[in-house]
Amino acid sequence: MFKKDHILILILIIIILAISIAIISMPHVDNTVSPKNTSSTTEIIANDTVGTVKVIRNIGNPNSKKIAYVVGVHPLENETHKTLLKLLPALTDLNYCYDIYVINVTKDIGHYGDGYSDNSPGRQNGQNLAYKYVYPQIADGDYELAVDIHSNVGAYEYKTFVFSPVKESLSGEYAKKIADGCENISYYVPESTTSGPFLTVPLNENGVPAFYFEEYSFAPQGEKDSHMLELIHAIDNLELK
Ligand SMILES: [Zn+2]
Repeated sequence: MFKKDHILILILIIIILAISIAIISMPHVDNTVSPKNTSSTTEIIANDTVGTVKVIRNIGNPNSKKIAYVVGVHPLENETHKTLLKLLPALTDLNYCYDIYVINVTKDIGHYGDGYSDNSPGRQNGQNLAYKYVYPQIADGDYELAVDIHSNVGAYEYKTFVFSPVKESLSGEYAKKIADGCENISYYVPESTTSGPFLTVPLNENGVPAFYFEEYSFAPQGEKDSHMLELIHAIDNLELK
């Protein structure tokens, strides 16, 4: 009787062990949001001393016209960049095909409130990465449009706006149409931009219409989300020339 109990306990231990091993060796389920479009791919295109650049390709309709988004030119504006990265790849039924160029500055990012918000060296590092790695790929990448995503600390007349750095351009026409169709996005051209010469200006001059989207850096996340969705859908319904 005593021995029988021992065998029973042994069997129980073996069963518990077997179940534990089965649970541990189950495939790991990734709970992070993953792109709904399974044909999208991510490629690292630069590994520089001041940062990296990757591109997420083929979001949306891979058989359609191509549009490029760029995030990360100014590293401090990353809350707005993350908003695009969260929302765009998760959307289904997009009309166009999107690539997102993601610049990740790792050197001298700076931070708000230390007086460096406007001239931290990280801004120039991002601009240099944009010019060196992103500009040539978009210029030669068969894109109909490029959109450079930024945010601002509220020093402009408008907080959420689009604009082209090049007057009387197709990109300006596109940006005005976007603003016309979006309740919360204005068309407003600031007097100057620091990043224009490193990406949007040369793109416009070399056949790829390119405009800016500016969001207010300190807008609540819910507003950032809804503004970004307005932008994404307006661009997706833009009649491309
Ligand atoms: Zn910026």
